[in-house]
Amino acid sequence: MEMNFEKDGSAASPLIQIRDVGKMYMMGETEVNALRGVTLAVPRGGIVALMGPSGSGKSTLLNLIGALDVPSTGSVVVNGTDIAKLSRDEQSRFRNVTTGFIFQNFNLVPVLTTLENVMLPAQLGSNDLGEPLAVRGTKLLEAVGLGKQINQSVNRLSGGQMQRVAIARALMNKPPIILADEPTANLDHDTADTVLTVLRELCEREGATVVVATHDGHVLEYCHRIVRLKDGRLLSDELKEGA
Ligand code: ADP
Ligand code: MG
Repeated sequence: MEMNFEKDGSAASPLIQIRDVGKMYMMGETEVNALRGVTLAVPRGGIVALMGPSGSGKSTLLNLIGALDVPSTGSVVVNGTDIAKLSRDEQSRFRNVTTGFIFQNFNLVPVLTTLENVMLPAQLGSNDLGEPLAVRGTKLLEAVGLGKQINQSVNRLSGGQMQRVAIARALMNKPPIILADEPTANLDHDTADTVLTVLRELCEREGATVVVATHDGHVLEYCHRIVRLKDGRLLSDELKEGA
């Protein structure tokens, strides 16, 4: 893989640097080791898949990258920030400007329109967007093929349309990183294709790096790199041909 070098000659730090990360949860008296020493560096650009069976630690890893949780051991440095060193306020600001999340169940606000849903993250604070929120939101909805539905209530949309709204919403604040947790789990094959095509094209255009947790093999067609997890450990890490 090609290395980027800064002017001082040192290797540029990757966008996401995960070093020997362990994550332990307590279930009553029992320790559950969701991650057991994961090391992974993700440079800027492209789509990385986290693959593995249920319980292998995919969501735990995404949540650490998104500062929804902190590691028990090791370090997670995202966009130059060690997430364990953030205060609570800094953590929520970090989440809002650095990451956009896409979930299996879309997690839209049903009483709001598509445009209102897309603009929500920016109302909590955002990067400099360079244009009015409604203008950016409308452009994103047009880019995901929902330009005609901007004033429609989201609960009248199909699952595929809802996931496209969620993609637009995740990108609203211009975050450098998009995190997607099983984004196609509730979609049929053709709808998943449409959603993944939109995700890939829009993230490329917006310059966002994507990390997607999935056990849907079909998602791999859209990825540049495949990281396999099992029982909280990294099994393999491969770049796809032509990536
Ligand atoms: P995946 O997303 O690959 O299905 P997860 O990261 O959700 O895996 O879970 C990994 C392991 O950690 C599982 O055994 C799960 O039960 C456990 N786990 C995840 N979150 C918690 C939690 N909040 N409390 C206790 N155990 C958890
Ligand atoms: Mg999961």
